[in-house]
Amino acid sequence: MSDLAARFRALWDEIAPIGRDAGSGGYLRYALTEPELRLRAWYREQADRRGLPVTEDGNGNLLAWWGEADAGNAVLTGSHFDSVPHGGAYDGPLGIVSAFLALDELRAAGVTPARPVVVGAFVEEEGARFGVPCLGSRLLTGALPAQRAAALRDADGVSFADALGHPPAGARPELLGRFSSFVELHVEQGRALADTTAPVAVASAIWPHGRWRFDFTGEGNHAGTTRMADRRDPMLTYAFTVLAANKEARLRGAHATVGRVSVEPNATNAIPSKVTGWLDARAAEPETLAGLVEAVHGKAVERARRDGTEMTVTEESATPLVAFDGGLADRLARLLDAPVLPTGAGHDAGVLAAYLPTAMLFVRNPTGVSHSPAESASDDDCAAGVTALARVLAELAC
Ligand SMILES: [Zn+2]
Repeated sequence: MSDLAARFRALWDEIAPIGRDAGSGGYLRYALTEPELRLRAWYREQADRRGLPVTEDGNGNLLAWWGEADAGNAVLTGSHFDSVPHGGAYDGPLGIVSAFLALDELRAAGVTPARPVVVGAFVEEEGARFGVPCLGSRLLTGALPAQRAAALRDADGVSFADALGHPPAGARPELLGRFSSFVELHVEQGRALADTTAPVAVASAIWPHGRWRFDFTGEGNHAGTTRMADRRDPMLTYAFTVLAANKEARLRGAHATVGRVSVEPNATNAIPSKVTGWLDARAAEPETLAGLVEAVHGKAVERARRDGTEMTVTEESATPLVAFDGGLADRLARLLDAPVLPTGAGHDAGVLAAYLPTAMLFVRNPTGVSHSPAESASDDDCAAGVTALARVLAELAC
């Protein structure tokens, strides 16, 4: 193991136990809950150890400054600490740990950046607690109004404002204006690098994606006494819709997932009265995505007619295609001699890309699995990620 890989492992081990569920081995690091607050305290400690003053942007996003905070043209890096339910260790924290280590590398090499370099930790990136992904970056940029964010509630009814301890500040254009670029390092969430010799890639784009809620209603009734011919069972319409989504996505080279469902009354011996399923759909082009959702909707309507059920579809979120700054991506790919690839996963970098030149680095994930305890990256690949990030920061900040 290289010296850098060993230093990565040592720092990584400091946070590895925080928020880990003993049963699943996955992480429960919801934004502003105890495990995430411990990670934020760890972050302040790391910044302190390196003499980097930490500021908070009024929205829950943390910034650790190497250089004068008001110097302008700062280069921002970092990622997020929060996880999905039983998520992996690397999604998010890898970008923050790597950023601190990249700073160490630059300092050890005697590099003095001409511009500030800032390590950021964004709040509620996954949307697992308050339902809106990239909440912190959307607030900072003004993509989401502060009042709407303040009123978001978690499953226990706690509002985002209460969790934060104050109403979010919302858009901070003067703060955003101090950055000249953002580079987020992230674990790869597919197998694009798994069979290559490249430990690190540069992102080209994030697929357009969205979430649609399908509400199917029928007639709740007794499972033993209701004749099969007399039923209006929304579970059937739901089940057919899930299969249709899978088929339509395959036909288009797109992705469709129903990973969440709720059933009323949710009893073994009762025909359900209502089933709600959430469709997550993504595709390389917006037209493909629109065609996919339309096709699934059409098939669901047709099936509902046959089942005697009713259905409505509500778009809960829609994120357009994000094309990262092409010039910057090419420059970094040349610098690192790294491949360039798109991703189907959303990131704070996708939100910030609309406001400042933004790039992403992906670190190889041998299983390709993410949002699961099986997510992984080798220490050597993580060290390669740190080296790549250090080179990128030197390129952009010197
Ligand atoms: Zn992430």
